[in-house]
Amino acid sequence: MTSLNSEPIGVTVLGSTGSVGVSTLDVIARHPQRYRVHAITAHSNAELLAEQCLRFKPKFAVLSGDGDWKTLRNQLATQASEGKPITQVLVGVEGLNQVSVDADAPIVMAAIVGAAGLLPTLAAVREGKKVLLANKESLVMTGSLMMGEMRKNKAQLIPIDSEHNAIFQCLPHDFLDSESSLQAKGIRKLLLTGSGGPFRTVPTEALKDKTPDEACNHPNWDMGRKISVDSATMMNKGLEFIEACWMFDVTPDQVQVVIHPQSIIHSMVEYVDGSIIAQMGNPDMRIPIAYGLSWPERIESGVDYLDLIQTARFDFEAPDYDRFPCLQLAKGAMKENGTAPAVLNAANEVAVQAFLDCRIRFTDIHTVIDEVLNKTIRSGDIKNIDQLETVINADQVARVYADEVVTKY
Ligand code: NAD
Ligand code: MG
Repeated sequence: MTSLNSEPIGVTVLGSTGSVGVSTLDVIARHPQRYRVHAITAHSNAELLAEQCLRFKPKFAVLSGDGDWKTLRNQLATQASEGKPITQVLVGVEGLNQVSVDADAPIVMAAIVGAAGLLPTLAAVREGKKVLLANKESLVMTGSLMMGEMRKNKAQLIPIDSEHNAIFQCLPHDFLDSESSLQAKGIRKLLLTGSGGPFRTVPTEALKDKTPDEACNHPNWDMGRKISVDSATMMNKGLEFIEACWMFDVTPDQVQVVIHPQSIIHSMVEYVDGSIIAQMGNPDMRIPIAYGLSWPERIESGVDYLDLIQTARFDFEAPDYDRFPCLQLAKGAMKENGTAPAVLNAANEVAVQAFLDCRIRFTDIHTVIDEVLNKTIRSGDIKNIDQLETVINADQVARVYADEVVTKY
């Protein structure tokens, strides 16, 4: 797929103006013989989208939300080829879907944040594409449905989340092609590492006063605000726990969360003979993005090479479930199965947004999620995922209830 003698492969970057999107364009720009940007999308940042269009000359640019598309269209009209603008501007969710299924882009980077990424990601999977999955929320919500669509349509779902990408790198090379279980391949468990976020050592009683800016100040990673808050509550590790179960077809007891504050080991795989294989590197998303783009080959990512002498030491500790109840809530939702992870995800998105808007405190995030999840379970409203509508309905009902809970604070 990435032979140097062929034409550059078209790549669609969903969420190109975000942290992962910008890193993806950075890697692509280093390999113009291999990749060309076919389409890019943003929700509201029309200015950055216009800059990216002028630089990468994609065929399509999508503004899915409330950005100023008229100015964008006028700006792009100045960059014309034979009297026609190089980049066509599309709008709304329809635009997102159109570029997700476009046959001229065999690779789709799914880097929209949150449940909004579900439909375009699933559309690309259903089209049998190579989908680079950064948008963990879509897999958390749909689980077996997304994996089933991947197999049915012979799509390749390559994990971009650094932990899952690390596990993917540590697994046997035929992982994607082989049907046999991880156990049959001699794998005992997956070790999912996490830094513990910015509040790992903050006294528990001080957590309630933490501000959005403090929560978004991650010690090792530079990310969007939603995932940064998820890292501070450790819901991010909870979502990743669920993501790992689905992505690698393992049970919850085959995934162990290990806190590793340096974020140099990005996750590990333990084999039955007692070997543990780890993937290491500087914490920069361009490494998993480059691997996802070029897999099974490897290309330069632009990331500095790791200096192990300077790194000097690796620490490991157990997660603190009292300090980070979100991790336990996510594990509980995965055990509950069905639409429970979608309910957890929806409640989390509402609670995180309320925290970022200073409507609730940091420590209210987990109580909102707990209340929504418990009420849904108690009223027997967790459903088996038989079709997409079941997930979308569970997501919407949970959001309405989470909004109600938030207004009580
Ligand atoms: P971000 O907030 O920086 O960017 C989000 C992107 O999604 C932007 O381009 C934005 O325009 C677009 N977007 C936002 N709301 C939208 C909506 N309603 N409809 C359509 N598009 C919308 O987020 P990010 O940090 O780049 O994270 C993107 C995804 O990747 C998330 O699912 C996150 O969990 C995952 N991820 C991120 C990192 C990281 O280092 N940032 C690491 C691992 C996984
Ligand atoms: Mg991660």
